[in-house]
Amino acid sequence: MKVTFILPAIGKKPGKKYIGTWKMEPLTIAQLKALTPQNIETELFDDRLELIDYDTRTDLVCITVETYTAKRSYSIAARFRERGIPVVMGGYHVTLCPEEAGLYCDSVIIGNAETVWKQMLSDAKNGTLKRRYTGVTAEYDISPDKSIFRGKPYLPVSLVETGRGCIHRCEFCSISKFYCSHYYCRSHDLVVKDLRRSKNRYIFLVDDNLVANRKNAAELFRRITPLDKKWAGQGTLSMAKDRKLLKAMKDSGCEIILIGFESLNKENLRQMNKSFNYALGERDELVERIHDAGIGIYATFVFGYDNDDERTIEDALEFAKKHNFYTAAFNHLLPFPNTPLYDRLKADNRLIYDKWWLADGYNYGELAFHPKKLSAEKLSRLCRDARKEFSAPKTVLSRGFASLGRTSPLMWGLFWGMNLRLGDEIDQKMNVPIGENLDELPK
Ligand code: SF4
Repeated sequence: MKVTFILPAIGKKPGKKYIGTWKMEPLTIAQLKALTPQNIETELFDDRLELIDYDTRTDLVCITVETYTAKRSYSIAARFRERGIPVVMGGYHVTLCPEEAGLYCDSVIIGNAETVWKQMLSDAKNGTLKRRYTGVTAEYDISPDKSIFRGKPYLPVSLVETGRGCIHRCEFCSISKFYCSHYYCRSHDLVVKDLRRSKNRYIFLVDDNLVANRKNAAELFRRITPLDKKWAGQGTLSMAKDRKLLKAMKDSGCEIILIGFESLNKENLRQMNKSFNYALGERDELVERIHDAGIGIYATFVFGYDNDDERTIEDALEFAKKHNFYTAAFNHLLPFPNTPLYDRLKADNRLIYDKWWLADGYNYGELAFHPKKLSAEKLSRLCRDARKEFSAPKTVLSRGFASLGRTSPLMWGLFWGMNLRLGDEIDQKMNVPIGENLDELPK
């Protein structure tokens, strides 16, 4: 038996290359490879890097689907199903929209696939594939088999998972919906094993909130300190209240932490159910504590809540410039399916597209709903302008010199490569047609 894994791409502009920073290794596929019995042959087509061979000899196609890649996933599935090859789909989008995904494939996996993977393979082998499998999250302690990535030109950073989920309930967040506001810690022995086996010195700890369980995080940082790795991860500003935790993070190799500030506006934070960001009060002081600990910040902001206007975007930009963040993202809000945000906008009749992820003509960077105080086009343009301003040479210079000493010399070098390239990428990413032009070179 042979299984073909496919990681679909978002889309690209005709004749252009796929966005470079969107080429990280797909960890989930390595997890599933590790659970696949040795006597089953496997192959991977990463749509972001290579053309898919639709004529490949295979018995089963498994596609990992995210909302942004749903349209592309469904068209890939159709090509294989024309040949009579069964297609299984899993991933966040499938869990959030199983009925929709089920229309385009033979079987869906809901939740984390690891606990049902072997059963699904056995059923596929026996010709008794079920329409639906439901995985559970609690038991997922396996180590990924990254041999399936061999020869593929991913970014030179290894991905490692230390836990899944998050304890918060932000209105727009599909992670919170997927994991029902739960955080699941992964065994520290396995994290250490994965870090030891990582071929890159630079690691991205992929958890959505690394510090969701502070006690666990502190112990984990202590365990990984001797490994001499440098890592980036995602946390929340509240972690800065604990100076010991910050020190342990830095000692363990933390260079950059992504923090979702989202908004500086109290009403917006209340509406997105992220008031815990505002309740911190001493926001500036906490940012300084993180910087003083020698950790750079990747700050993210989201715009489109009901109190957003030109002023709130300007305020966020000024805040980001004042603190000389290592980097920052100024994103517009996007209603992911089955989140409370999506349901609210739908009930208020404010969605521009019922299903933006499948809509003809929907492009990356476009709004999919009507904001209250600005037009959709204007908000999209203001987000783009904020990105441009933050990556303008003068701002980059000031941020670069502020980063000197905050991060390791190599991360400082990386700062220039990353931030100077970011300016070009902003325009490349605008208006990428979702699900289009992917069966053509260059990749
Ligand atoms: S803190 Fe982050 S990961 Fe957690 S629910 Fe909010 S947006 Fe999602």
